[in-house]
Amino acid sequence: MKNDVQCLSDAVAYCGAELKRFSDSPFLEAQLIVAFVLGISKESLYISNDEKISEDKLEEIVAFVEKRRNGTPFYYLVGKREFMGLEFKVNESVLIPRPETETLVEKAIEIADGRSLTVLDVGTGSGCILLSFVKYNGSSVGTGIDISEKSISVAEENARNLALSNRVKFIATDFRNFFSKLKFDMILSNPPYVKTRNLIHLKHEPLVALDGGIDGFELYVDLIRKAFRLLKNGGYFIVEIDDCLSAKTFDSFKKEGFLDIEIIPDLADKKRFVAGWKK
Ligand code: GLN
Repeated sequence: MKNDVQCLSDAVAYCGAELKRFSDSPFLEAQLIVAFVLGISKESLYISNDEKISEDKLEEIVAFVEKRRNGTPFYYLVGKREFMGLEFKVNESVLIPRPETETLVEKAIEIADGRSLTVLDVGTGSGCILLSFVKYNGSSVGTGIDISEKSISVAEENARNLALSNRVKFIATDFRNFFSKLKFDMILSNPPYVKTRNLIHLKHEPLVALDGGIDGFELYVDLIRKAFRLLKNGGYFIVEIDDCLSAKTFDSFKKEGFLDIEIIPDLADKKRFVAGWKK
């Protein structure tokens, strides 16, 4: 009960109980919420367990928990998400970066093999793919495009926070209308691929970032074609997919003229990415 909360450990117990039916790991989340509201690390909670909690902070915690119970994702409430060891600002204009997408960036880094490249990220959202790639790749530079103007300002803010603004630019555009004289060494993309019928309960994350149409494949044919045209000879395209679309994506890569096509699993061993090389 809220009225029984005196000290930090009571606050954690209260949040945990309130979130039981709403979170996969209610007690971990409870610790994170209390630490976030108090502006301390989760670790320092252990040594401050008996510290008294102020009325104001308790009200903030109660409000946070209420929003979680209403289904707002945890990371929108804290306003940030870690990806590739870097911190990204997030809000409801962008998809929350998913840990499985780190495999795409790792694959790109492996292919780059220490060379500085010119990259394009299609559907950049928070900018996490482009910015983490560029951060870990010497003096690589890149462009991130997204159909959502609001997402572009989040990506730009992330670039500033990571001190990468001088190496990237972001453009609000539909990829089908994006043309560039300059060709790219590598194109990366995590486009929307969730089937529309699986999104009827979506309330917080942007539909435009997830909705892949009836079969989840609506954008892929155009995207694969566009990527092929925007790549330099010798360039690579790596795209995230729904695992049930791996064969279809493979075929489209092949039809378009990509070579050395590879289906890459994520850490849960799902066929999550397809990569191809332009001769
Ligand atoms: N993997 C994401 C999810 O499960 C989907 C990302 C996307 O559509 N690109 O929600």
